[in-house]
Amino acid sequence: QAQVICEFTKCIMQCKKSKTFFCAPAVVGAGIGGSSTAHFLRQHFGPEVQVDVFEKGEVGGRLATVTVNHNEYESGGSIIHSLNLHMQEFVKQLGLKYRRNVAGKTAVFNGEEVILEETDWYLLDLFRLWWRYGISFIRLQMWVEEIMEKFMRIYKYQAHGYAFSSVEELLDSLGGSGFINMTRRPLSDSLLELGVSQRFIDEVIAPVMRVNYGQNVSIPAFVGAVSLAGAQNNLWAVEGGNKQVCSGLLKMANANLLKAQVTSISPLHSGIPPLTFSEKRLF
Ligand SMILES: Cc1cc2nc3c(=O)[nH]c(=O)nc-3n(C[C@H](O)[C@H](O)[C@H](O)COP(=O)(O)OP(=O)(O)OC[C@H]3O[C@@H](n4cnc5c(N)ncnc54)[C@H](O)[C@@H]3O)c2cc1C
Repeated sequence: QAQVICEFTKCIMQCKKSKTFFCAPAVVGAGIGGSSTAHFLRQHFGPEVQVDVFEKGEVGGRLATVTVNHNEYESGGSIIHSLNLHMQEFVKQLGLKYRRNVAGKTAVFNGEEVILEETDWYLLDLFRLWWRYGISFIRLQMWVEEIMEKFMRIYKYQAHGYAFSSVEELLDSLGGSGFINMTRRPLSDSLLELGVSQRFIDEVIAPVMRVNYGQNVSIPAFVGAVSLAGAQNNLWAVEGGNKQVCSGLLKMANANLLKAQVTSISPLHSGIPPLTFSEKRLF
């Protein structure tokens, strides 16, 4: 978003100088990325600027729901981490509600029998985890927390309007070469090096990877850590569907939503129209 704002600021300055162009930022896509960009553009530039948002499908994108028996169920991005500060702030500003948690217990099933089951007694659960897996679960918890702590630096960069020109640069600024390496080695290697037992990897980590991403423990360690963060118990969702955040942000930003598919984008002043789109409605 910072990069979009920087580019647009440059554009506005050029417009003012040349007095020939009319500048209106165009956002492609009304998923959470596009709708939050529209919101931040409005915050930054005030009410005068027209913010166009092009969406070829449904507002919300991969934040989507299906209706079953008059109830909305998440069919895309369903859970939000408690450290996602932007989502928390959006929900507050939009007056949306947190969805009630459905109580449930965790169990480990090896295909034939339940080998471990959560109880109502926290200390007993800890003891049973330690008995079966040693301190693997503590090592894992500390590893995931350390990664998230580094990831939280992103909010400071954003607060200072700092932008990155590549994903690699972003990862390097957040977690140094450690983060970059995590995108290049399997999750299982990182965990074994950390001292997590093979049994814990097979019985607990592998099912989490399978449930979250349909993958196994050879996925890159970085995405594996993200998946493990999504298996913690401090997760939440928006009552009625997370996609409401997108429609709410577009409304709050007073964005001009165009139901159209963007077909090309060109640099300004190249003599070619900066953006072309097909107005054919696709839904
Ligand atoms: C099944 C599933 C489960 C998930 N679970 C979680 C979860 O539990 N927690 C979590 O944090 N994340 C989860 N994710 C990931 C999360 O949903 C996505 O990372 C996030 O929603 C992506 O948002 P986005 O705005 O970047 O992209 P999208 O949501 O994909 O939005 C892009 C939008 O752009 C539109 N578009 C694309 N090209 C054009 C064009 N040329 N012209 C006009 N419009 C265009 C698309 O129609 C789309 O609406 C899940 C994803 C899936 C699919």
